[in-house]
Amino acid sequence: MSVSVNPIVSVAGLNKWFGDFHVLRDIDLLVGRGQRIVICGPSGSGKSTLIRCINALEEFQEGRITIDGIELGPNLRRVDDIRRDVGMVFQSFNLFPHLTVLENCTLAPIWVRHMPKKDADAAAMKYLERVRIPDKANAYPGQLSGGQQQRVAIARALTMTPKVMLFDEPTSALDPEMVKEVLDTMVDLAGEGMTMLVVTHEMGFAKEVASRVVFMDAGQIIEANTPDQFFANPQHARTKLFLSQIL
Ligand code: ADP
Ligand code: MG
Repeated sequence: MSVSVNPIVSVAGLNKWFGDFHVLRDIDLLVGRGQRIVICGPSGSGKSTLIRCINALEEFQEGRITIDGIELGPNLRRVDDIRRDVGMVFQSFNLFPHLTVLENCTLAPIWVRHMPKKDADAAAMKYLERVRIPDKANAYPGQLSGGQQQRVAIARALTMTPKVMLFDEPTSALDPEMVKEVLDTMVDLAGEGMTMLVVTHEMGFAKEVASRVVFMDAGQIIEANTPDQFFANPQHARTKLFLSQIL
């Protein structure tokens, strides 16, 4: 399969401990270019920790993570190279409250990429249009709804033209009526061919766009399958139990 020959994200034999606590156990994960991987599993199963390792926000003790050929070893050398290629969207938006929407989007391109301000502004406006919120460019995050803030966070990540986008429960802090506008934005992004790793329990989203659904429990990948197979024919008792609780 071409995916295993040229994955954009490759995680091999990843093990991580917090002190004595073995939080990630022998994680292997390949993500092909343009694939959308949905990661689900009970609270505390290690989903955020895995995503944070891939974005070099956490150290790990064993294994290898490679992003588009750049290897991130346990000692986190090349962190800046990795972060440049990987966009991240958190549950809690993490926008800078004292900067406008436009300034939030242009901060990293100007300071990390050394992009001239004029070019950064143009790029940011392009992505704010993409997430359908260009009219809020000069507003401050506190003046926006949660759904709007999360769409700004997506535009901000896109302004760095990442090769991969990571999402960690991007809709779980939102009021129900705002979930759809954020999921719609993510569906659009998937349709444009973006490589995405998404931690979410939005199983409708998984069915619509996932190339594969990965189920984690107690630090392990228990099962990974196409959405059709995953939902219709879960293989493990723990997967069945999890699905019975959330569907
Ligand atoms: P999930 O995202 O699946 O809910 P997490 O990756 O956040 O799970 O957490 C996995 C486990 O690791 C949990 O038991 C959590 O309490 C623990 N954990 C997370 N971060 C830390 C930390 N910085 N120090 C110690 N334990 C942590
Ligand atoms: Mg989490």
